[in-house]
Amino acid sequence: MAEIVLDGVTKRFPDGTTAVRDLDLTIADREFIILVGPSGCGKSTTLNMIAGLEDISDGDLLIDGERVNDRAPRERDIAMVFQSYALYPHMTVRENIGFPLRLARVDRAEAASKIEEVAHILGIEQFLDRRPAHLSGGQRQRVAMGRAIVRSPKAFLMDEPLSNLDAKLRVQMRTMISRLQNQLGTTTVYVTHDQTEAMTLGDRIVLMLRGVVQQVGTPEELYDHPHNLFVAGFIGSPSMNFLPADIAGDGLHTVLGTIPLSDRMRRALEAHRAPSRVILGIRPEAFEDAGLAHQREPEAGPGLAFTGRVEILESLGAEKFAYIDLEAEGAIDSEHLADAFQGHDTARRHVQLVARLDPRSGAREGRPLDLQYDPDAIHLFEPETGLNLT
Ligand code: ATP
Repeated sequence: MAEIVLDGVTKRFPDGTTAVRDLDLTIADREFIILVGPSGCGKSTTLNMIAGLEDISDGDLLIDGERVNDRAPRERDIAMVFQSYALYPHMTVRENIGFPLRLARVDRAEAASKIEEVAHILGIEQFLDRRPAHLSGGQRQRVAMGRAIVRSPKAFLMDEPLSNLDAKLRVQMRTMISRLQNQLGTTTVYVTHDQTEAMTLGDRIVLMLRGVVQQVGTPEELYDHPHNLFVAGFIGSPSMNFLPADIAGDGLHTVLGTIPLSDRMRRALEAHRAPSRVILGIRPEAFEDAGLAHQREPEAGPGLAFTGRVEILESLGAEKFAYIDLEAEGAIDSEHLADAFQGHDTARRHVQLVARLDPRSGAREGRPLDLQYDPDAIHLFEPETGLNLT
């Protein structure tokens, strides 16, 4: 049993930087939680406070109901895995994995069998007598994991453990970590800046920006119901499209044409006393090649549709991305939009829209393309606060 509670946790560094501000979070026993956000958002500092590597300026940290703010790292019974692996170069894999057991003065025979067991779980039995220098990056990271899991700690803390690995290996290690977590069920806090890692690994995601939690929820909750522009832009790749939308009469006036206000939109706008100009958000996957849709369902009407010129077409095999230039209708005035583009897609402005298409789409670069979309896929954001109104 290892429940970790952060209650109003704040970290101020001596130079006046507030790296984490008033963080409330309850991590359930056996939960796999991801701290994610752009560089400098405070995720590593949060992890280091849980580990005991950084002091907590304000607030309480509880592990299994006990306040541990002043406990040394060793006394917290938590194992940490770093991006840099932090293996001892002069020790073999066997000695590296067994190191925590030696410190804990575990009986030799018991340690030997525990090391074998862990090596088996991680698929590194054949490397036990090698030194780290003679291992690949992925193998080294497995050894670092082995060292963490060998003494069955209350919780694992992982700080970007996969970021030194190439893309293919990262995917393999991701599935290994998922399997490991299913098998061991140990409470895990995992830091990454990679939204794909966050979406695929976590039971819940904590998305941070400038030391402040923006949203906590399951991957689906963050994807389907982002609280604000930043969350909407950060989760999902390519990120959500954002367009200016003016509320006029019964419709939203946009570069995609006039979109009739649905009851859902009308209720949301009224409840929040929205201004007359809002930001419309729609994910690339909400669009569909209208020609393909018609082939599939010849009886169905086109629904909401528009025609755009395909500037760039990227074919990825299983999907195609069409980048479509729009006639800009004035810029969107919202500082939150800059947050939404932080760290990725910075070059893309709201004068270009991206649609994720079925690979059978007949879209061509330089040609017009008819697209249709579902009004239920539309999010509306308040420019001043960045909040999602829908
Ligand atoms: P990254 O992904 O780049 O590692 P992060 O989200 O993990 O970023 P932190 O390392 O937690 O971010 O840093 C949060 C903020 O605190 C940053 O603005 C950083 O500059 C600042 N910071 C970190 N360590 C210190 C320190 N020792 N003194 C002053 N400021 C610090």
